[in-house]
Amino acid sequence: MGQAMSEKETLRCVYDLTLDELTALLVSWGEPAYRARQVWEWLYRHYATDFMQMTNLPKALRHRLAEAFSLEPLRPVTEIVSQNRWTRKCLFALPDGETVETVLMLYEKRRTLCISSQVGCGMACPFCATGLSGFTRNLHTGEIVAQVIHYARWLADPHAGGADAAPISRPTRVTNVVFMGMGEPMANYDRVWRAIRILVDKRGFNLGARHITVSTVGIVPGIRRMAEEGLQVRLAVSLHAADDALRDELVPINRTYPLRVLMDAVRYYIRKTGRRVTFEYALMRDVNDRPEHARALAQLLRGVLAHVNLIPMNPVEGSPYQPSTRQATATFARILEDAGLPVTVRLRRGIDINAGCGQLRRHILQVDGRQVMPLPVVSS
Ligand code: SAH
Repeated sequence: MGQAMSEKETLRCVYDLTLDELTALLVSWGEPAYRARQVWEWLYRHYATDFMQMTNLPKALRHRLAEAFSLEPLRPVTEIVSQNRWTRKCLFALPDGETVETVLMLYEKRRTLCISSQVGCGMACPFCATGLSGFTRNLHTGEIVAQVIHYARWLADPHAGGADAAPISRPTRVTNVVFMGMGEPMANYDRVWRAIRILVDKRGFNLGARHITVSTVGIVPGIRRMAEEGLQVRLAVSLHAADDALRDELVPINRTYPLRVLMDAVRYYIRKTGRRVTFEYALMRDVNDRPEHARALAQLLRGVLAHVNLIPMNPVEGSPYQPSTRQATATFARILEDAGLPVTVRLRRGIDINAGCGQLRRHILQVDGRQVMPLPVVSS
């Protein structure tokens, strides 16, 4: 049993492959090319959990695929659900025993998935739970794609509760994907972009590129590269400070790519793509939330096709950063609005389930070293 398990775990993950690669492989097995298209539809339209379900394929091919590939690179360890059931978060174990988090948020018309790109993160932002845990490894393409497929299955399955989940019964598919889970997506650029290309493939999952957001600490070469990708994927930049001294502290990569260099890259991206860029700004009490900080932010973004997303701070154990008061948040937002900047204050979804970046994993890991411990599911 132990040996069978470990053999299975070392199987290649089928979600690592693009349709072209799958086609080349099946052709090399002596199969007609259209078989790959059939497999692709089973994977990305029907979210098959077993190759044996692929009933329009010859049995021998189904067996051969099952011997070569794994369909489930992620093992859900625990899932917690917010009191109102609009947010759920899953901690997944990877084949090597590492863990990552994925969050599903149900809005009226959107089903937004917040996915991870790395185990841990090397960017060391001191207010971020993942940053405090350090970097372990990059996720493979298939491990990124499988986070989406996991919740796509859940949403589509009437028996799992996804199809009639609060707040309303539709849509039953993932509508938006944001790379705002664990990790820095631009530090795992190639695999993140392979995953994006697999998810937007019209012959399969067919997610609209405009419904995908890549959020970065501000890795300048990555932003410039993204400007050339030719897909309508959105860019979000985690700013958190509008002056270099403060940003050096809050987002340490600023020492490598200071604001002037970062903003040059953002302007280049906007020129190239014509797309508005979101700037994330987590409001931290008495650190970056005073009126002068808002004015500096308005000044920095003057003339830039920008949108500011103010994020209420999720306090992290072991970190001194605290959320801003309501009053400070409102004043901050008003100063930006008065300067003509579009501003939104992010809803505080899932605060009761540690839905902030890396928080569930950190909580669990702290309990028991590297041994993950299941938490009870919260139900309303
Ligand atoms: N590494 C990427 C994406 C992951 S985090 C990035 O930094 O953009 C997604 C967003 O959540 C980032 O803006 C990040 O700075 C923010 N964030 C991290 N920890 C937070 C916390 N404790 N409270 C509020 N926002 C946080």
